[in-house]
Amino acid sequence: MTGVVEGEATFLEQLQAFEGRQVGPTTRAPEPVNTAMIRHWVEAVGDDNPVYLDPEAAAASVHGGIIAPPTMLQAWTMQGLRPKGGSRSVQDELMRLLDSAGFTSVVATNCEQEYFQDLRPGDHLAVTSTIESVSPEKSTALGTGHFVTTRQTYTDESGEVVATMLFRILKFAPRVAEPEPSARPPRPRPPMTRDNAFWWEGVKAGKLLIQRCGSCGTLRHPPRPMCPRCRSLEWDAVPASGKGTVHSFVVSHHPQVPAFDYPLVIGLIELEEGTRLVSNVIDIEPADVHVGMPVEVVFEAVDDELTLPLFRPGA
Ligand SMILES: [Zn+2]
Repeated sequence: MTGVVEGEATFLEQLQAFEGRQVGPTTRAPEPVNTAMIRHWVEAVGDDNPVYLDPEAAAASVHGGIIAPPTMLQAWTMQGLRPKGGSRSVQDELMRLLDSAGFTSVVATNCEQEYFQDLRPGDHLAVTSTIESVSPEKSTALGTGHFVTTRQTYTDESGEVVATMLFRILKFAPRVAEPEPSARPPRPRPPMTRDNAFWWEGVKAGKLLIQRCGSCGTLRHPPRPMCPRCRSLEWDAVPASGKGTVHSFVVSHHPQVPAFDYPLVIGLIELEEGTRLVSNVIDIEPADVHVGMPVEVVFEAVDDELTLPLFRPGA
């Protein structure tokens, strides 16, 4: 991004010409330090130190009376939601210069406050803002950019400096995201094992199979080596009708995996033979799916290599 500008100062020299410049006119706080604002602040942050609101406890403390929480510093001079005055500040000029070189994003990185005296109700502050430094171009995890440090100097009515604040931002060119791969990633593969190989062979052939015990005839799913009823290792398989009902379901919205369309209806389907399997319910608005609704299997080739038994509303 750094470059020489038409026989003039380099970009960095242009940036660093802002160092030491006052950002705008000194701004007087809209109100003096007051207990109403202190009360809102300490309630919001949950600070119940009595020196901020209890006159007697404060009088008995080392402070000798009510003081404002030091960290409220910025609150006294903040300009509110819609700052007055239309004139462009020096800060705006610097930001525009950085924008023009592609450093369009901003993130605050540091804030350091230093307090020189207690602030008490009635103190009326003013703040003067100066550009302290602009760094050479730096590479960061967010992207390359320039750190801009601004110093705020807070004074009371007598002109005494009561506090200062250094505020640093990084004005940076955001990293360009990697382009999305145009091809959709394939749907994750279901686990295929020696125990369920017969079942996937069936699916490939357009059949929905159910494992059946060779001893007691009990049907079971998912496939496994032993009958849970009689512990027989003998088994064969019978084709299901493909008809069933939605025993239960969820509609998944997040997190979204690129291979799927959302919202995604995941159903526990009870086949009319009595076994259950997990699959997707398709060809229906997710809001219309309900427990007990009749469904029927449809074999869908989700890509060149994978066919799945999915379920759509049935008669
Ligand atoms: Zn059995």
